[in-house]
Amino acid sequence: MRIYRLISISIRLFGLLALGSVCAADVAPVAEKAKSKAPVDSVPSFTWIHVDAPYVALTFDDGPSAKLTPKLLDLLATHHIRATFFVIGQNVVENPEITARAAREGHEIGNHSWSHPNFGKMSDEAVRRELRKTDDAIRGAIGASPTLLRPPYGSITAREKKWIAEEFGYKIILWDVDPLDWKRPGPMAVCNRIVRNTRAGSIVLSHDIHPGTIEAMPATLEQLEAKGFKFVTVSELISMATPEPPKPTPAKHPANSPNPETSSPKSTTPSG
Ligand SMILES: [Zn+2]
Repeated sequence: MRIYRLISISIRLFGLLALGSVCAADVAPVAEKAKSKAPVDSVPSFTWIHVDAPYVALTFDDGPSAKLTPKLLDLLATHHIRATFFVIGQNVVENPEITARAAREGHEIGNHSWSHPNFGKMSDEAVRRELRKTDDAIRGAIGASPTLLRPPYGSITAREKKWIAEEFGYKIILWDVDPLDWKRPGPMAVCNRIVRNTRAGSIVLSHDIHPGTIEAMPATLEQLEAKGFKFVTVSELISMATPEPPKPTPAKHPANSPNPETSSPKSTTPSG
């Protein structure tokens, strides 16, 4: 009888663990939903990285901003934190010295398009122009081509991912922590959302073009540090990846994305 109860408890525990593991893996936001009909998605995108230590990557999109990005760089330098900036090509051309400073100080620079359009709704040729111009602008500013792409709004089709990887060699980077800072909810909300949702291997999205985001960062960095997190660039985080334990049930991509903004990309939605 006692043995039977032990077995029964073990089975239930295993069931719970299995359930937890599926939920944890189902953080794939954005265009993942749209591609659920695609037969095979051979090019992965990264929403978070399975790592064995408390490393995370902070990412800042849509800059550089002449006014705000230097403040953020000052703060990151004070904390000896390196981050990743997904820059807009036309902002790089306006602020090449800020882009160069970020790279010089150890931050990673990724391609976030020239003018922030929705790739999921564009022709290949138009996407190619966006990527090429931005790649050229980044290379002009920092002397090296980026290796990462974050599509605006996280919107990209499986087919685009494939040809972009082949032509540009970019890894597609999404995120698992989104404080929705573009809605300008106030620095405290931005801070709380990031601190509450960040876990080992997280890729944290925010934007260095909103004053409230920059105001949120001192407390955010302090609280993440107090929780023991260490900060690396996205490429470094990917290089630390360790194999995930095998899942007892196949991974599913549920209809409900953790980020409603990105599950149905809108051209006017500035998230990502
Ligand atoms: Zn963006």
